[in-house]
Amino acid sequence: MAERTPIMAGNWKMHRDHLEAIQLVQKLAYHLEEQDYEGQDVVVCPSFVSLRSIQTLIQSDRLPIQLGAQNCHSEDEGAFTGEVSPPMLKRLDVAYVLAGHSELRALLDETDEIVNAKVAAIRRHGMRPILCVGETKEEREAGQALEVVVSQLRGSLAGIEVTDDDAEEVVIAYEPVWAIGTGLTATPEDAQEMCAAVRTELASLYGQAVADLMRVQYGGSVKAGNVRSLMAQPDIDGALVGGASLSSEDFALIVGHRRAS
Ligand code: PEP
Repeated sequence: MAERTPIMAGNWKMHRDHLEAIQLVQKLAYHLEEQDYEGQDVVVCPSFVSLRSIQTLIQSDRLPIQLGAQNCHSEDEGAFTGEVSPPMLKRLDVAYVLAGHSELRALLDETDEIVNAKVAAIRRHGMRPILCVGETKEEREAGQALEVVVSQLRGSLAGIEVTDDDAEEVVIAYEPVWAIGTGLTATPEDAQEMCAAVRTELASLYGQAVADLMRVQYGGSVKAGNVRSLMAQPDIDGALVGGASLSSEDFALIVGHRRAS
């Protein structure tokens, strides 16, 4: 079985101004131990206005924390008021960019086509997309979870090449919409089943060897109390964490899930 580098990412959404964001990262770094970074990617995704401050902090304190952005436009520049382009993010040393988060799919009608263009742009500029997919409560209850997720994967990854050389650079986050910010978490078994299905679809797109190297995160009310059972699943390679990443103590416990208790 392929060795995949776990990726633990915090999505702060529209929380924390840049001063609060600095404090949050400083405290997170204080709570984390050297071993927490070993063989594991630790990522924070603050709002756009905090990226420069966090970039400077990471650089000056030589923190092994990586910077993520919550979104981007697919064009390099142009008359797109209020948008932020991939080259702008690259200049800020952003390593990861979320694409297709369910809140943007729902609130801004982001389609797979739009998400696909963003994924392509993120890759073109040498950053790593975290492509979010997941079904709603209604879709799950109607037995359509798998179909929805497979269709989102196919649409959002259309024309995106992944080889065994860059398989770790395209990350999928399986985030059931009904579990995001609700306190409801998929059971480890259900999360595993869906993440395994994601990998099966990746295998049909890129071949089994590449799919075995690609990272599939679970997201949806991940907390210190459930992270271990989720991370123990063979097809779950990390967590995308919203609410719990806003507390440095809680996020450090999640990131530090491998420590002996
Ligand atoms: C998210 O925003 O991607 C998320 C998973 O949020 P939460 O952990 O709060 O459910």
